[in-house]
Amino acid sequence: DNAPLRTDAVVIGAGPVGLFQAFQLGLQEVGVHVVDGLPYAGGQCAALYPDKYIYDLPALPGCSGEELAQRLLQQLAPLRVPVHLGQVVSALERLPADADARSPRFRLQTDGGLTFECRAVVIAAGVGAFLPRKVPVPELQAWEGRQVYYHDLPPAQWVGQRVVVMGGTEAAARLALTLAQGNAAHVTLLHRNDRFVIDAPLDEELQSAIGAGWIRLCLGQPVGAIATDDGRLEALEIATADDRRLALPLDLLLPRLGLSPRLGPIAEWGLALERKHLVVETAGYQTSEPGIHAVGDVNTYPGKRKLIVCGFHEATLAAFAIAQALRPDERIALEYTTTSTRLQRLLGVV
Ligand code: FAD
Repeated sequence: DNAPLRTDAVVIGAGPVGLFQAFQLGLQEVGVHVVDGLPYAGGQCAALYPDKYIYDLPALPGCSGEELAQRLLQQLAPLRVPVHLGQVVSALERLPADADARSPRFRLQTDGGLTFECRAVVIAAGVGAFLPRKVPVPELQAWEGRQVYYHDLPPAQWVGQRVVVMGGTEAAARLALTLAQGNAAHVTLLHRNDRFVIDAPLDEELQSAIGAGWIRLCLGQPVGAIATDDGRLEALEIATADDRRLALPLDLLLPRLGLSPRLGPIAEWGLALERKHLVVETAGYQTSEPGIHAVGDVNTYPGKRKLIVCGFHEATLAAFAIAQALRPDERIALEYTTTSTRLQRLLGVV
């Protein structure tokens, strides 16, 4: 199960730039896998502004963040690039040099237990891995995956349970409503105040569920965890908005506090950084480490602008540079998709 996946290149990040990077590498016939920590592709466009419109993409006068992600996936589909979601790349190491030029040069590991061995790495990590914001009560970590869940869990698990949803986000409000309509025994929505960052129709729905008693609203901040003798999480200790302490009994805690990007591991791989961005040259967007490239919002160079169109350009040149490095004896020529039968075959249009 843990056998390393061997491939030419790994792209870290399935944001718009990472997806287009995989497409460009595919056109160069470089074998590629894409890895992202989020459970869906599209990076910031899908995570931060799925419904907002982007108006400055070439030839797309208006396109929502979510639509851009879908269009990039659709463009990539004929190249059959594996996209591994829900996997944060946590380690990257250079393998000992081997006389065989075809042998892998890098090993990557994810927190989900995947290992990749490859000859080129492209970091398209944007502002970092989007990880769920944690409840600021460190003891709760002990119950993660047992009674505390930051990600979706199958509905069967909450049947008959006393569930506390925490947060003022849209995800928190939607989840509380779903649970209230399902078969949870009790649904409590815990938030530090009564202001939710949600649109009016959802707020109305939430207020009427609270009014009807399907959702109990608890205003306050968790400050501690109370456990049973046999080690189960029994209740949260809450400091209420009006300065009281109370115990909020529960079977499940589902915090939905939003996502926060963390460059995390990438900052620890010894690559040259400038203000938390990876320094690259602008012919092939290579970092300070040969064979490791960086494209999109994560990189910096003179004149850098964090725009999707700039990331697409960087990805195109990085793909040429990687193909050339992997096939040093070949001259990597420019081919047009309009006229090249090789490219059209790859794309399945002829
Ligand atoms: P991202 O979109 O940030 O994607 C990076 C991905 O890498 C993420 O999915 C992350 O989970 C993943 N990742 C990071 N670290 C790891 C790791 N260690 N392991 C696994 N996965 C990892 N740009 C425009 O050009 N036009 C616009 O109109 C526009 N509007 C915007 C509006 C808003 C509200 C915002 C926030 C941005 C906007 N942008 C716009 C900017 C644009 O979204 C970014 O430039 C673009 O998303 C950068 O793409 P990327 O692929 O480099 O990075």
